[in-house]
Amino acid sequence: MDTVLPRKRLVIGNWKMHGGLEANAALLGGLVAGMPQVDNCDVAVCIPFPYLAQASATLRGSAVAWGAQDVSTHDQGAFTGEVSAAMLSDFACQWVIVGHSERRQYHGETDQLVADKAAAALKSGIAPVICVGETADEHKAGQTQDIITRQLAPVLALGPDRLSRAVLAYEPVWAIGTGLTATPDQAQSVHALIRAGLAQLGVPQVRVLYGGSVKASNAASLFAMSDIDGALVGGASLVAEEFLRIAAA
Ligand code: PEP
Repeated sequence: MDTVLPRKRLVIGNWKMHGGLEANAALLGGLVAGMPQVDNCDVAVCIPFPYLAQASATLRGSAVAWGAQDVSTHDQGAFTGEVSAAMLSDFACQWVIVGHSERRQYHGETDQLVADKAAAALKSGIAPVICVGETADEHKAGQTQDIITRQLAPVLALGPDRLSRAVLAYEPVWAIGTGLTATPDQAQSVHALIRAGLAQLGVPQVRVLYGGSVKASNAASLFAMSDIDGALVGGASLVAEEFLRIAAA
């Protein structure tokens, strides 16, 4: 029988469109100074494209990795405004968020496009953090499982080899930036559904993060659930002390 190794914890900050050279220097410096070198948790921040050089200069050699918040499906060419995975590799990005609900909502990203972006990242050796999650209306209508299953379908179609190098994030849209968090049991039930899909594909070791108003005060109760492997953190990742406390949890 195959042995399934324990999944290493992972906490990733999503800065969204926040930051500036001066503020970043303070935040990144605070993370470097305060982040313990631990071997049971990976920590990263996904920052706006223009600051990747600053992040790589500040974080190199530290316990904090860095990445971006989006990537093009294209390798190169006439795609104004797009950034390729190879360009992210030039800045030593280890991670890229794809399919965040804000990209799905404001930029019309489809389930298939999100999977294609994940594939483009993987081709350049960058691990995609693939986000899925239902809206408030879908949640109220009892459609959560159907929506997650639909969003996951093209992602699972990437196949076990590629998916084994990815991370999934369940982010209920109604919990993002609202202060409303899914209860640990609510989150666990969706994580179990995602885990079942991964297990069926033969990759139960893929990490599944929870995202949606995670704070130092609620992180430990979420992380106690058997299928929650860490968090994708928005607002709370902009305050070094708070983010460090989430990572410590
Ligand atoms: C996010 O943007 O991915 C997120 C989870 O945001 P917040 O933690 O602010 O809800």
